[in-house]
Amino acid sequence: MLKTTVLVVEDDKSVRNLVRTSLTTQKYNYILAENGREAIAMASSHNPDIIILDLGLPDTDGVDVIKKIRTWSEVPIIVLSARSEDTDKIEALDAGADDYLTKPFSVEELFARLRVIQRRLATYGSVGGESIFTNGALRVDYSAGCAYIGETELHLTPIEYKLLCLLSQNVGKVLTHTFITKRIWGSSYENEIASLRVFMATLRKKLEAEPGAPQYIQTHIGVGYRMTKI
Ligand code: CA
Repeated sequence: MLKTTVLVVEDDKSVRNLVRTSLTTQKYNYILAENGREAIAMASSHNPDIIILDLGLPDTDGVDVIKKIRTWSEVPIIVLSARSEDTDKIEALDAGADDYLTKPFSVEELFARLRVIQRRLATYGSVGGESIFTNGALRVDYSAGCAYIGETELHLTPIEYKLLCLLSQNVGKVLTHTFITKRIWGSSYENEIASLRVFMATLRKKLEAEPGAPQYIQTHIGVGYRMTKI
C-alpha cells in the first residue's frame, strides 16, 4: 500500500520535530517546510496527500498560504493555530482549510484528524459520482431528495434537507457559520446565523437518537458545525 505523504508547515522547531517523529512512527511519509514560501513551493512540487499548516508563519499569513494553494489544489489542509488566533481559524476554514487543531494539541488528536481525512479521501475515491450517501444508519438519496435513518424516512423541511446535504457532502470537515449561511440563504447576517441555530436544532431532533448528545453533527462553539464520519 502506498504511504500517505504529509507536508508539515511549521516554523516552531519543537512542534515540527514532534509531528515529524510521530508521523514516522505511524508510517506516514513527510516533507517539511518552515515558512509560507517553502510551503507553497513544496505543495506544488511534491503534491502531498495532506497538509498540516501552522497559521503563524514568519513570512506569510497561513491563511494566504491556503488561498494560494486552493487556486490549484483541493488537497486537505489541517490548520494548527494558537488560541489567540481564533479569528484566523475561522478565516482559514472559510479560505478552504478542512479542519483545525488548537495549540497545544495532543498527537493522538492530530492522528485522529488525519485518519478522518484519509477515510474521506478513500470514500471519495470509491463512490465518485454516486448519488447516495451513507454514514452509519443515515442515508441520503440526493437524486430522489430523501433522507433515511435505517428504513425510516426523515420528514425534513426544505432548509433542514439543504443543511443535511451540505453537511453530508462535506463529511469530516468543519463548516463555518458564514460558509453555511451563505450556501443556504445566500448571505450571512447575524439573524441568519441565529436562524441556522434554530434549523440545526430541529434537524438534530429528527436525525439524532439523542439530540442532547449528537452522534452525526458536532458543534464547534463560535466556529460552526461538522458531520462526523461514523
Ligand atoms: Ca508559528
